[in-house]
Amino acid sequence: MNNILQYKDKNIGILGAGKSGLAAAQVLTNSKANIFIFDDNYPRPTCIHKSNWLNYKLWPWKQLTSLVVSPSIPTKNSKKHDAIKLAVLNNVKIINEIDLFFETEPKAKIVGVTGTNGKSTTVALLYHILNFNKIKCVIGGNYGYPACLINDPGREGVIILELSSYQLDGTEKLWLDLASIINITPDHFDFHETFEKYVASKLKIISCLNKNGTLVINKKDVFLKQKINHQRNSLYKLLKVSEKVGKNFVNDNDHLRGTHNSINASIAISLAIKLNISKDQIKSAIKSFKALPHRMEPVFINNKLKIINDSKSTNGESTAAALSSFDNIFWIVGGIPKSDGIGNAKNFLSKVVEVFIIGKSANYFEKEILQINPDLPININVTLEKATQHAIKKSTESKLNNCVVLFSPSAASFDQFKNFEQRGNQFKEIVKTLLNMGLVTK
Ligand code: ADP
Repeated sequence: MNNILQYKDKNIGILGAGKSGLAAAQVLTNSKANIFIFDDNYPRPTCIHKSNWLNYKLWPWKQLTSLVVSPSIPTKNSKKHDAIKLAVLNNVKIINEIDLFFETEPKAKIVGVTGTNGKSTTVALLYHILNFNKIKCVIGGNYGYPACLINDPGREGVIILELSSYQLDGTEKLWLDLASIINITPDHFDFHETFEKYVASKLKIISCLNKNGTLVINKKDVFLKQKINHQRNSLYKLLKVSEKVGKNFVNDNDHLRGTHNSINASIAISLAIKLNISKDQIKSAIKSFKALPHRMEPVFINNKLKIINDSKSTNGESTAAALSSFDNIFWIVGGIPKSDGIGNAKNFLSKVVEVFIIGKSANYFEKEILQINPDLPININVTLEKATQHAIKKSTESKLNNCVVLFSPSAASFDQFKNFEQRGNQFKEIVKTLLNMGLVTK
């Protein structure tokens, strides 16, 4: 457990008692700080001692040195939490748990990856390549576990941080040897309020690069290249990679299907090369990479039918990536739409045979789809169970070969599920039950 000497006997507030707040509490307690922790939405977790749990309004603000804020709590926009206002008023430093980790002055090489879509897949692939090649490697941040819990693997090792826009927005002390912005498309308006602010939080990763650090981006990303040109200074190297690199290396690994995954792979490969892994070693590693759950995860495959769980697809751009990867699609979609609705997925409706809509905003999705393709058969099924049964039945009755039942919701899950994981797991359970009943027969 990290021990940060300068926090000994200091009074520190922690706002938010989710994964990152609790991790900060653990590290700060271990560093012998006096902590005050509170969460507006949850009661005291059992791992927090009664004496540390106190409403932020009652904290001794004048004696606090720092306030550690959880990533999902706004610190900058007009909806900023009242505790932030109190911190500013009392000159209390506002930080996040990633800053805490950097206070430990880690010696390993540090790689940061951000983007609207593809972060987890890219960091998981890079981790797999390094691990396969016996490099001491830790993965954390938005993926795996909070950064402040990471044990520095030392000079020979590598730390890979998946960084969300929320985390980048809130960090004050983060430095990176290598970084990547995979892409930027509209998302998270509720938090950032405008697209410009969202873009700015993603671009912040550039200012976290060390002198002579390298930023890796997709060569074809015109929007990003233009934005970066405005931020260009001579202190970092810019590496623009082609998706062809990824395509060649991935070859026929079914777990990295689609152009979007070729882009993710190109970025992971370029980062691995920068970390001195040879091309042959990278190629061997990629062969055994498995898709992460809920990201275009194959649930059932035979030579006539594929059933794919893409529950992690919460916006139009990621669903566009999924639709573009298949043909003859029986598409299950719906939930709480993001600001771009089905966004770019509109450009791939010609690949869809029939649509099955779930969730509260069914009419919204129906209207969006019919505006583009008024002839596309649409079923409003409301529940995932009904939609899955219906889609599988229709696909098995279809005369088309190589059908795909694709669950790519292009929406947040909170109208019917706790999160995308629960939604995806339920989808897999439903498919399993149908398989056991012999209903998936194609
Ligand atoms: P993140 O961690 O950024 O949310 P994931 O790797 O978990 O990214 O993937 C989230 C969703 O986005 C999945 O539906 C996945 O298929 C899709 N996706 C992955 N990479 C990309 C990409 N480069 N462009 C567009 N969509 C992508």
